[in-house]
Amino acid sequence: MVNQKMLALGQTRSCIRELFEYGLRQAAAGETVYDFSIGNPSIPAPPEVNETFVSILRNIDSLSVHGYTQAPGAMDARQMVAEELNSRYSSDLRGENIFFTCGAAPALTSVIRALAVEGAEILAIAPYFAEYRPFVEANRAAFVPVPADRAAFQIDCAALEERVTVHTQAVIVNSPNNPSGVIYTRETLERLAEVLTRKSREFSHSIYIISDEPYRELAYDGAEVPFLPDIYPNTVICYSYSKSLSMPGERIGYFCVSDRVEDSGLLFAAAAGSARSLGHVCAPSLQQRVVAACAASRPDLDAYDRNRVTLYNALTSYGYRCVRPSGAFYLFVQAPGGDAKAFSDLAKARNLLLVPGGDFGCPDYFRASTCVSHEMLLQSLPIFESLIKKYQ
Ligand code: PLP
Repeated sequence: MVNQKMLALGQTRSCIRELFEYGLRQAAAGETVYDFSIGNPSIPAPPEVNETFVSILRNIDSLSVHGYTQAPGAMDARQMVAEELNSRYSSDLRGENIFFTCGAAPALTSVIRALAVEGAEILAIAPYFAEYRPFVEANRAAFVPVPADRAAFQIDCAALEERVTVHTQAVIVNSPNNPSGVIYTRETLERLAEVLTRKSREFSHSIYIISDEPYRELAYDGAEVPFLPDIYPNTVICYSYSKSLSMPGERIGYFCVSDRVEDSGLLFAAAAGSARSLGHVCAPSLQQRVVAACAASRPDLDAYDRNRVTLYNALTSYGYRCVRPSGAFYLFVQAPGGDAKAFSDLAKARNLLLVPGGDFGCPDYFRASTCVSHEMLLQSLPIFESLIKKYQ
């Protein structure tokens, strides 16, 4: 006998993985594939990342590099991450506020589990990262999607307010957003903060923001990515170096509970406890050292930017409707005909792999990842053009 909920999760294939693996099979069979399915960084890590790996391995003794650290991470590395954040924002973080995890995903599950009290409801803005639903539901909390405003894909604060109840424990906010590429403006976030402050008072308990920020540094045209804890102190950050340092396979990120968060000590301890219950021992010790040393490094975003502009301009000139993304590396496009699954199947038959938006909470949109080769992107454009003609 096995846990049926886990069995169902393990047996359901992620649509993105399925498309990606289909693409690999097609390519192995000699087909030309235009794969816009997966969000795997396509620009290399900044050179200092690899240099730091090598230097640490050469210069620091092996037992220390490969040994366990404390569960939240090595204090000097945590301190360096906190200081780098303080140098950029008006924060007063300490190393003690940072807990290194194996990426943003376990940071999210740790914090969500920490807040999953009896009857808990966790809100997320649709479109949302598809894994939020299993992260919340596996912890026996209710996942409550809130539709974004469809004109700009900003948070619809009135719709959100309607869904906040006495059971609401947190709202997951992801900006720059996967899959829309939209950055929530300061004005939007201030309105959200106003609603949550009012509702926390009304229900006499804290409603937290869980700010999922793997794309924090991926912003274009000088767009501002507001630092949420400045706007709403009850914000817990879940961060990842997967995209910002192009190292998703190295599995390193953190959650950060600042002293300004209500019950910060309790929340930090409960999130540490949930990490423990999920088998966390410590994040990889080598990676902790690397990201601490490279916390201020940034990827060269020109390639993502060029793809973003090229694909956005081409698709909108063919008649596709899409909000211009100003962050991350995705385009979220209204599916011609209104059924993204049907459209994605049609595209798949031409070896053009696009993710239908059902799992992101928007079944009438598809996502195209723009972390792809520019040549492949250019070659795919006639297929995009011919597909929309079928609907015109
Ligand atoms: N959150 C969002 C919005 C993401 O897009 C991803 C990965 O694509 C994650 C979290 C998980 O990131 P990580 O690789 O750090 O676990």
